[in-house]
Amino acid sequence: MTTAKKTKNPAAPKPEPTKGMDLARIEKGVRLILNGVGEDPRREGLRETPARVARMYREILGGLHENPEIHLRTVHKEKHDEMVLIKNIPMYSMCEHHMLPFAGVAHVAYIPKDGRIVGLSKIARVVEGLSRRLQVQERLTKQTADMIMDHLDPQGVMVVIEAEHMCMSMRGAKKPKSITITSAVRGIFRTHPVTRAEAITLIRGGLTGGKEV
Ligand SMILES: [Zn+2]
Repeated sequence: MTTAKKTKNPAAPKPEPTKGMDLARIEKGVRLILNGVGEDPRREGLRETPARVARMYREILGGLHENPEIHLRTVHKEKHDEMVLIKNIPMYSMCEHHMLPFAGVAHVAYIPKDGRIVGLSKIARVVEGLSRRLQVQERLTKQTADMIMDHLDPQGVMVVIEAEHMCMSMRGAKKPKSITITSAVRGIFRTHPVTRAEAITLIRGGLTGGKEV
């Protein structure tokens, strides 16, 4: 009758898979921040906030525990060795210096070798996977170019990212709407200025200037 204490309850709900994340710890940290800024974490509007923020981080930083390379594993053969450009891929990431978002668009150009191409959406998935972690825009740009270069072995890759950083807009320099542009060029885009210029012209042909964000 009193043995229930010792019996493990097999029906206890299992927590959702957190993929390497400790949600309880994030909640604890958010509660500390709320206390630290002089808020009362127990007040009505904030009661669920730590748990909500923990689930949000699981989502927006979840790329840390995923390998976006998997999107480049299915390679198609097509008689196409001309430039492929995917423009205005929406991009949302988190700056690792301030843990504030930076968001904008990515443009990815590549020139296949021996007809090796990937589905267009796969390139966007790679950008997304690499964005959903604590990043700096320069590294995100390089990682995207290198991953495509390593796994698709094209003649060249060019990645351009334009983004607005909340850490520049909301605080510090307070320069809202200033756009940071980074680029990474590999292979033929690096060695052939004409090819690089062609890609830039195609990207410039309809630059959003981050306005979609
Ligand atoms: Zn920052």
